[in-house]
Amino acid sequence: MNSINPKLACDLKKFGTFDFSSCYNCGQCTAVCSITGPDASFPRMFIRYGMLGLTEEIISSKDIWLCYACGDCSETCPRQASPGDLMAALRRFSMAKYEPTGLSAMIYKSNWFSLVFTLALAVFLGFFLLTIKPDIPVSRWLFNFVPFQIIHDLGMIAFIFMGITAFTGLINMYRKINRKEKIKLRLKNTLLTVKQVIAEVFSMKRYRSCDDDKFSYWQSKNLLVKPWFLHFSIMLGFLGLLTATVLDFILKDPALKTWWPSRILGTVSGLFLIYGTIITLIYRIGKVTPAYSQTRMADWLFLIFLLLAGITGFWLELAVFTDAASTLNNLVLLVHTVLSMELVVLFAFSKFGHAFYRPLALFFHFYKNLEK
Ligand code: SF4
Ligand code: SF4
Repeated sequence: MNSINPKLACDLKKFGTFDFSSCYNCGQCTAVCSITGPDASFPRMFIRYGMLGLTEEIISSKDIWLCYACGDCSETCPRQASPGDLMAALRRFSMAKYEPTGLSAMIYKSNWFSLVFTLALAVFLGFFLLTIKPDIPVSRWLFNFVPFQIIHDLGMIAFIFMGITAFTGLINMYRKINRKEKIKLRLKNTLLTVKQVIAEVFSMKRYRSCDDDKFSYWQSKNLLVKPWFLHFSIMLGFLGLLTATVLDFILKDPALKTWWPSRILGTVSGLFLIYGTIITLIYRIGKVTPAYSQTRMADWLFLIFLLLAGITGFWLELAVFTDAASTLNNLVLLVHTVLSMELVVLFAFSKFGHAFYRPLALFFHFYKNLEK
């Protein structure tokens, strides 16, 4: 039985939605959404849940993750109730409920906390990295004040803690949604569904359909500036850079001639990442559509970190080409590694979380369709 939370609308505002009580239930938002349908009805239904205080209905729903935040619904809403922003806020709200530490809630609710925590973590990760190279002067100076082993062990604990938290969040989400969907896993259907999820994650066909929709601001624009392509660029760029880094690490010889395939992969991926993040930041600064008008501090930091990681990556590549060993290049290496580690460490607590929550929701969605 669902309990009613009379403060839900108030709580949701802290996660970045407007006053959706101005909604008069006309249904226009659901009508223009190219993704919603009889199998997944949103965003109007979630406005009702929000108004009625049905927290459990929200966090046990896979449907909030099927929305790609295109903002078409907000653009056409006659009451400026911003249903697209509500969907984004519901995803943040749900992420905060799934992960058990309460850190996501603090990061999403308070821009100041988000900023201070992220910067403090960056400093800590910087110190942790210095424990890997304990013989350089700055490390020796630091370890006069704080014992080497303490920083190193704390760093390892932080990584393990974040990993466990991300995994717990995923399990909690699975339990919540399955309480509603009640799927019974069968091998054949599971494999078929996993295939569908992978295809959707890498093609984001449904997101593309938002851009091409007749109500969309982007319909007549060039593909290269459409949100789908920008999201695709960022995802491709990040995954490519991660692969190139892992290859370099495994092969333990990032030398130019020997491992050129990972160099090419890194360069191309870096270009995709930088392009996607710069244009997205421009859209967010200019608030070009309602989808870009509400940006939380956590979202700004996420994009800025991605961009800086890409730029410092190119700097380092240039340094390798020119064989330039200098203090400045070492500093850039430190910044680049801290940024990359921070993105990984904050995986479960930042916008990045959608990279594993959304595929799980898609899994439920496709599995249910297959069983019909
Ligand atoms: S959010 Fe706007 S478009 Fe959607 S039902 Fe309410 S008033 Fe209508
Ligand atoms: S933001 Fe886009 S995908 Fe999400 S509910 Fe609105 S129209 Fe649908």
